[in-house]
Amino acid sequence: MGQTKETQSYMDRAQQVLYHVYNRFPVVFSHGQGVHLYDTEGREYLDFGAGIAVAGLGYGCRELNDAVKGQVDQLWHTSNLFYNGPAIQAGEKLIRASGMDKVFFTNSGTEAVEGALKIAKRYSYNKGMAPDYEIIAMKHSFHGRSLGALSVTGNSHYQDPFAPLVPGVRFADFNDLDSVKALWSERTCGVLMETIQGEGGIYPATREFLEGVRQLCDASDALLMLDEIQCGMGRSGHMFAWQEYGVKPDVMMVAKALGNGVPVGAFLASNKAATALVPGDHGTTYGGNPLVCAVASRVLDIFEGQGIVRHVQAMGAYLWESLEKLAEKYGCIKDHRGKGLIQGLEFTMPVAPVVSHGLLEERLVLISAGSNVIRFVPPLIIEEKDVQEMVQRLQRSIEAVC
Ligand SMILES: *Cc1c(COP(=O)(O)O)cnc(C)c1O
Repeated sequence: MGQTKETQSYMDRAQQVLYHVYNRFPVVFSHGQGVHLYDTEGREYLDFGAGIAVAGLGYGCRELNDAVKGQVDQLWHTSNLFYNGPAIQAGEKLIRASGMDKVFFTNSGTEAVEGALKIAKRYSYNKGMAPDYEIIAMKHSFHGRSLGALSVTGNSHYQDPFAPLVPGVRFADFNDLDSVKALWSERTCGVLMETIQGEGGIYPATREFLEGVRQLCDASDALLMLDEIQCGMGRSGHMFAWQEYGVKPDVMMVAKALGNGVPVGAFLASNKAATALVPGDHGTTYGGNPLVCAVASRVLDIFEGQGIVRHVQAMGAYLWESLEKLAEKYGCIKDHRGKGLIQGLEFTMPVAPVVSHGLLEERLVLISAGSNVIRFVPPLIIEEKDVQEMVQRLQRSIEAVC
């Protein structure tokens, strides 16, 4: 598909001014409604990427638009030197949904990870441990791009150009409890991992692994920190993915779908871990401001009021069946993994051509996770007919390039 003049002009201007750290697709979206996006040429796309698992409630959601409009005329920002109502409300709802005890709002997932790392260190410091703490993280994980979050991201491609990173991080094999035990030392202050690895290729933690890591942490009073930034907020078929396992973390991180697109994240802690940080230890200028918290608060209302998690369970099962059929049909599909509406198809070859063909020829938005996995993280409000339509467009894309 050749770019029209208009799209080409956006691309040329972007190349002049925007930092080139993304190889973007030649598409300019201008608006969205429900599970559909529209480009500046007026073409409609079916979205199974949700802006990287962010637009859980889809686009143009009336109640969320109203939440923004209502708050816009009241107050956007106060700083955290004062109390603000929307942050308290959003906090109360997050605490109720998670069973955690305390919440700190951030501007992004990365910053939530930074907060968790600081809690683990401070918790050990308070116990009088020598300050050479170690954190165990997982290979093929993803936790963000800041130097702290990058330090626990088990991917040398992302890490190597920015060494030296934060010291004391050791990488275990995800779902291999023995590899965690092998790295354990009296300096271990915590384990940080995704409950379902997202960027790494959609790998859910096994029950034995999560329970085993919990026991290891309990035995030496280390903190279990679960990154729910991608798999949380209903996407797994539970409000937070760990709730299915009944393995509660000491610290958990959320972001992405929490604000449905306004920049807000959070780290939550049990009382034991929360008391580690004291006034002066941590802060943020914007984090949890009234504007983003008014939206997060409404997002949480909608989850409860509209039974989003139950809907994800039903749609997740339907998506699972549909992708199983595809996996049986095409020899180039090697594996199918995931839960709820975070699923992946692993191919025997790089998926970039399938994704590209899907977007440009079939107007289907899909994203990859690593080179060989197509990741399905649609808005949580999809219906069966959207899954059927997605499968048809994907089949045509596979047949065109495989
Ligand atoms: C996206 C993501 C992050 C980083 O979040 P940002 O909002 O991009 O900073 C961290 N962890 C996981 C699991 C993610 O998917």
